[in-house]
Amino acid sequence: MATNTAPSSAQYLNERGTPDWDALPFEIRCSRCGYNLRLLEQPRCPECGLDFTWPDIIQHQLAHNGVIFEYRWRNRPVRSWFATVWRCLFPTKLWRELSIHDPPRVGPLLVFAISINLGPGGLLWGFGRLAILGLRLWYKLWPSSANQSEQLIQTIYGIMAVSVQLGRFLIHPVVSLFSFGALAGAFFLVLGMRQTLGRCKVLAPQVLRSVIYGFVGAYPLIILLNWAIQYLRRSYYLALLPQVPLDLLFWTDFLLQHLPPLILSSLYLRAALRNYLRLPHAGALAFSAWLVGILFAWTMFFAILLLFGNR
Ligand SMILES: [Zn+2]
Repeated sequence: MATNTAPSSAQYLNERGTPDWDALPFEIRCSRCGYNLRLLEQPRCPECGLDFTWPDIIQHQLAHNGVIFEYRWRNRPVRSWFATVWRCLFPTKLWRELSIHDPPRVGPLLVFAISINLGPGGLLWGFGRLAILGLRLWYKLWPSSANQSEQLIQTIYGIMAVSVQLGRFLIHPVVSLFSFGALAGAFFLVLGMRQTLGRCKVLAPQVLRSVIYGFVGAYPLIILLNWAIQYLRRSYYLALLPQVPLDLLFWTDFLLQHLPPLILSSLYLRAALRNYLRLPHAGALAFSAWLVGILFAWTMFFAILLLFGNR
């Protein structure tokens, strides 16, 4: 994420293109596993095998001046928030722009993950509520002009009602709890597997960044899909109920709700593990991570039901 205004890595390199270790004002550590690279000649981490170039790693560790929320939350919180969400939707582009050599910031990352869960829902809900109030006020204050634009008002009213419903669905405690449970499960699985992946030991903040940005990318699609299914379900349940056995209906429903989110989030996480962390078997790892994540979320959900449900 280097720009023209960033300090240049050139002044820290000698004629052979390797770092001038005495001139460097900071330690260079492997961006993936944290191993100290001081006095190495070859641009390859002896600990985890990550290949890099010296100008790249020095440049990124010097600069951190990209547009994403992690680096910009202090001076451009709103703009960088939207810029980051937008980038997460297109993972190939995101991971081309955000390099493994840009060190993650855990605090802003967590704030970003929480705000993704609650921010859009709150906004949709609040905006819809306000607009509906405004329309009612219009009816009350200027009944004649409101009656003339009846059609328009009905349309706006319909859209706003959907906005309120979607918002309420997004900030529903069960939906949030499930999302965070799955996120935590996926994070701990990748974290636990990092030792098993050949020699790859990956820093926890790097795993956190991959899982969160992968999740944020898949999240809007998952929510829309899930929400559409909630609506479809009502009609197809009633239509099918007399003909189809109940348990078959239950399993179709269960798969319909879980398979698309599992596939989507795995694809997004796979992009991060492969293009960003450059890990082997990224697809299998991403799929198992979200499978475990969803199972973990369900376990958590039932545990809470058992603990508090009977009171
Ligand atoms: Zn390394």
